[in-house]
Amino acid sequence: MDKELELLAGASLERSLRVSSPVFGSPGYTVRGDQMLLNLSSNDYLGLAQHPAIIDIMHRTLQSEGAGSGASRLVTGNRQPYAPLEAALAAWQNCEASLVVANGYMANIGAISALVSRGDVVFSDQLNHASIVDGIVLSRADHARYRHNDMEHLRSLLNKHRDKRRKLIVTDAVFSMDGDQAPLRELALLKREYGAMLMVDEAHSGGVYGKRGEGLCHELGIQDDVDIHMGTFSKSFGIYGAYICGSRTLIRWLVNKARPLIYSTALPSSIVAGISKALALVQADHWRREKLDAGSRLFRDSLRSAGFITGDGGSPIVPLIVGDNELALRFSSALEEVGIASVAIRPPTVPAGTARIRFSLSAAHSEKELTEAAAHIRIIGHQLGVVSS
Ligand code: PMP
Repeated sequence: MDKELELLAGASLERSLRVSSPVFGSPGYTVRGDQMLLNLSSNDYLGLAQHPAIIDIMHRTLQSEGAGSGASRLVTGNRQPYAPLEAALAAWQNCEASLVVANGYMANIGAISALVSRGDVVFSDQLNHASIVDGIVLSRADHARYRHNDMEHLRSLLNKHRDKRRKLIVTDAVFSMDGDQAPLRELALLKREYGAMLMVDEAHSGGVYGKRGEGLCHELGIQDDVDIHMGTFSKSFGIYGAYICGSRTLIRWLVNKARPLIYSTALPSSIVAGISKALALVQADHWRREKLDAGSRLFRDSLRSAGFITGDGGSPIVPLIVGDNELALRFSSALEEVGIASVAIRPPTVPAGTARIRFSLSAAHSEKELTEAAAHIRIIGHQLGVVSS
């Protein structure tokens, strides 16, 4: 192990854990060491992680329900706050039923491995999140990976696997490292044409798109073509946990077959109650989405006009592609020196040669903060030779 770790370090690919602390009253910032940094690396898209009403209900539920749930939901962990939350989630997603699970990683591995098995096939975008890939591996179904957002490639794979028993197409709605969107309308058509199920991971689009933050499927009006809606509460909701929404039969199936639900302890009630409050805020506070969208446009446009490569996306995830691993680390350190927390994303999280700084923005950031940050990024980009003057 030591030798392999040395190799990783030598290739600027070693990762390590660092402490980041919140700054109460300033949700767009984080503290590392003794430095307060503008946090351009959090997924708290709507700035809800410090919302007093969420914290208050979590406190009160902690007092009334205790710290832990004590058991899996199928044993005695299915506490009172679950049912109203699941009813509200189903109504929000306009689905028959919903299921709350521990986190997005577990939701993906649990749902996929419950829905398909040997003899089935999963069609999965090459850039889908690791939890989707792990779910497919765990399911033992065939893994038909299609080139990123390439519908012709997907069609050829669908033809090749025509005779498989169950077919599942799965995609991120917004891709986590590139911030671009899946072609959901085309996917909905292909799913119908080939009699496949469609699963969409709205981890980075839930709360961000849709009139009430339902996600990209609702924004595009294809929600009824989606058989399995998945999303997390760890990003726009500012807390922790995840959901699956769909038909009553789907949820009944998952309660009986999804191993992370069956064999792992239920989320504590305080978290479940906090999510309910966050769901109400996500639906009501449309201004947060508007502010986030305006800030994302401003920030992305200013990086693009400075000559940076920021990909095709239009979401609050803004990648700044630098290519080289070590250069990405130097860029991120230089940003930290001027008061900006950013993260250098390197292989295997992204393909070799596409190391990047991944910025993720929040409604907690002001126009002024984003403009100043973009100016710093431009200067450092010139100094490091990422863009020419
Ligand atoms: N899906 C996607 C697309 C993600 O980006 C993430 C989190 N990085 C997850 C699932 C996992 O969600 P969670 O953090 O709630 O486990």
